[in-house]
Amino acid sequence: MPFVDLRAQYASIRSEVMAAIESVMERQQFITGHEVEALEREMAAYVGAEAAVGCASGSDALLLALMALGIGPGDEVITTPFTFISTASAIARVGARAVFADIDCATFNIDPDAVAAAITPRTRAIIVVHLFGLAADLAPIMAMASARSIAVIEDAAQAIGARYRGRQVGAIGELGCFSFFPSKNLGGIGDGGMVTAKAATAPRLRVLREHGSSRKYSYESIGLNSRLDEIQAAVLRVKLRYLDQWTNQRRRKAKRYRELLARGGIEDSAQPPIEPPGRDHVYNQFTIRCSRRDELRDFLAGRGIPTQIYYPSPLHLQPAFGGLGYREGQFPNAERASREVLALPIYPELNDANQAAVVDAIAQFYG
Ligand SMILES: *Cc1c(COP(=O)(O)O)cnc(C)c1O
Repeated sequence: MPFVDLRAQYASIRSEVMAAIESVMERQQFITGHEVEALEREMAAYVGAEAAVGCASGSDALLLALMALGIGPGDEVITTPFTFISTASAIARVGARAVFADIDCATFNIDPDAVAAAITPRTRAIIVVHLFGLAADLAPIMAMASARSIAVIEDAAQAIGARYRGRQVGAIGELGCFSFFPSKNLGGIGDGGMVTAKAATAPRLRVLREHGSSRKYSYESIGLNSRLDEIQAAVLRVKLRYLDQWTNQRRRKAKRYRELLARGGIEDSAQPPIEPPGRDHVYNQFTIRCSRRDELRDFLAGRGIPTQIYYPSPLHLQPAFGGLGYREGQFPNAERASREVLALPIYPELNDANQAAVVDAIAQFYG
């Protein structure tokens, strides 16, 4: 059984995807154009944002968001240490300082109280990550940010379609950042990303992704080369039409994992992720918290069951952020999560027999 099976999904939409690719080949326009513009409109409508701007990756979406806010040297940006590297490397890349705030143990998401404690007069933004597909607790964070004119950027790379109190993530903060990396819930056939924003911010994002230029060979600022390809946009437009269906399938698989873990009587040793009221999880990952994690992982691997560890080390302990001066013990919840998390296979086409085999093997290990 694979950890993620992209072939099953492709098989189900093959003719539509191939037709979309062929139409781009016929037009021979590859870098931004009709497909990208259409996807931007469709994504903005889907998420409920005023505007959306395509770019080369989710990592660049974060970078463009910070650049659009004019964040740079002397500024601080608060974020979680329990996330993918890009969330924090984007902050360093614009010359600002990443200030970490610990996570909430139950949800793996940034803890609003820890954010409050990390705010200083230099804080310009907070990057909130909706980790594994569950919305972070945005309301208290939005309230403290708006009282101090601090921008909230949502890293929604793993959470397209997730909701917080009825609203979709990516349209709640000042800017939303999405990734179309192939294993994300809306995955392209290569790298791609998108920033959702207020209508007034979109022109700035478009200039920044295009070398800082709005008119050919006239440069208003220092930008990037970070466009979305037509071929990616064409495929993503096909897949966006199926996204809700796939999300519902992921949610059903998650429900079934919970039932199987409960039936096996092993929820204490292998705790399923929680879904607080008003926060619809989209399960880019189904991450359990478990004891003897590394042993369990080896045991499952021996039975042909693939798992992944997101993330084996929190960012404050990574050599790349050594210059920030953090030490072990400063973010105990993130450190503990790094020792206890294990992601089980989850994708819309995951079949019942495989799911049962995963949980049977976990039960054997703890039995
Ligand atoms: C995948 C991911 C990114 C980066 O997206 P890319 O498209 O791979 O650059 C950023 N943040 C989080 C939380 C992610 O999971």
